[in-house]
Amino acid sequence: MELEELYQTVILDHARRPRNYGPLPQPCQQVLADNPTCGDEVTVYLQLSVEGIIEALTFDGQGCAISQASASLMTLKLIGKKGQEALLMIEEFQNHLTGESRQELPENFGDLRALAGVRKFPQRVNCATLSWNGLKQLLLDARVDKNL
Ligand code: ZN
Repeated sequence: MELEELYQTVILDHARRPRNYGPLPQPCQQVLADNPTCGDEVTVYLQLSVEGIIEALTFDGQGCAISQASASLMTLKLIGKKGQEALLMIEEFQNHLTGESRQELPENFGDLRALAGVRKFPQRVNCATLSWNGLKQLLLDARVDKNL
């Protein structure tokens, strides 16, 4: 199978059967991220442990296949990580999609590498980074609140 077909399969699979979908029980942090140019609306829910580890991370909302798949893949990748470590991966992901880098996403991004191709389509980059922007905001808020 061609790499691009494989990537398509990953994106469609996560768009049709999103993982970690649905709100978390309260109390949790949550934020609504929206992308008006495409109509994507994603709410990201986060539970951090007192040590600043991502214990639970989910999302819900609606939008295009890219926005849904990206949120689903993000939750799988970042649950269990320290907030600080997650922030670095978020930055790396965003830089990769929006920046000048011609490199592939590193191996440790796993299936998320399926999304690297959207940087060829600037209007879709916001779809892919939407949920990541939301999570980044939550992590930065938590860092201020809890001194993490
Ligand atoms: Zn979209």
